[in-house]
Amino acid sequence: MPPVKKNSSWISEQLCVQAARTCNIYCAYCQNPPDGKMPPLKTALAAIKRRKIKAVSLEGGGEPTADPDFFPLIARLKKAGVEHFMLSTNGVTLSDAAFCEKAAAEIEYFTVNFPSHLPEIYAAATRSVKFPLALKGLMNLKACGAQEKVRLFHIISAFNYKALPAFAAWAAKNLPGAAFVNFTFVRNAGRVNDDPGLVPPYSAVEPYLRLALAKLKLSGLRAVVQNFPLCRLPGFEGFSFEFQRWLRGDEVFEEGVAHRARCAACSRCTLAPACCGARADYARIRGLAELKPSSLNPGLINPERF
Ligand code: SF4
Ligand code: SF4
Repeated sequence: MPPVKKNSSWISEQLCVQAARTCNIYCAYCQNPPDGKMPPLKTALAAIKRRKIKAVSLEGGGEPTADPDFFPLIARLKKAGVEHFMLSTNGVTLSDAAFCEKAAAEIEYFTVNFPSHLPEIYAAATRSVKFPLALKGLMNLKACGAQEKVRLFHIISAFNYKALPAFAAWAAKNLPGAAFVNFTFVRNAGRVNDDPGLVPPYSAVEPYLRLALAKLKLSGLRAVVQNFPLCRLPGFEGFSFEFQRWLRGDEVFEEGVAHRARCAACSRCTLAPACCGARADYARIRGLAELKPSSLNPGLINPERF
């Protein structure tokens, strides 16, 4: 089935604005570690005015809410015409109830990087002791009526993959009204720096991930999986973010995202047009032997709710 192009929504017109120069935790898997620098805002403001951009995502190079000028930045963007804000955050600053309430009044979606509901895994993955603050931040969002604005962003790494089903059960119990859970497989970039100890094989993750997705589906909490090959998601392909992009007629890969590595199995696979495959940075440390060509028609895969 040929993919069908959908009408564009404000999400597809949004601009990413780097709104951070530092971070208040130190994730071992951080792809884009802060370097103390932030590009001048005037470049983003000029683009917003010129292209009449109405939606921005505040993210990049650290934690936006750690910047003392976080709310003044929002005010300047609003003045330039922005009406919709999305925030990528680790949630730690949202442990301040007043800050959280003020942010919830401005932000439409909070993408919260929360690598575990278990303190010991959180501590290892983020090299921090801020688990209680991050958890409080999430619960503050719930308490101030912003639960449906929460997108739980769970990077799958060697630290947490065995706890994916338990995380799914925790999310379904504690944040049942969240927008969705996003499981993104760790990329070998930034601090990962070719360390196979941080990047588990797809095949090791697969059974835990499928169980986690099944639990979420049964609970009614939506879920999506990013950067994970379709042949390692048998029966659960409909959760793939890249497959869903293909289905709605978008490019499989978002702008700026590395494409798949060249792979003999992929070249013989009918799912290739709708699949992210394995990135070269994964292949470099784990190889490509786990990828198995399929003869499934991607147009016959049922997309999951997302
Ligand atoms: S992944 Fe996000 S929260 Fe973690 S250190 Fe990097 S910028 Fe900070
Ligand atoms: S063989 Fe390649 S294209 Fe086919 S499902 Fe696996 S990763 Fe995707």
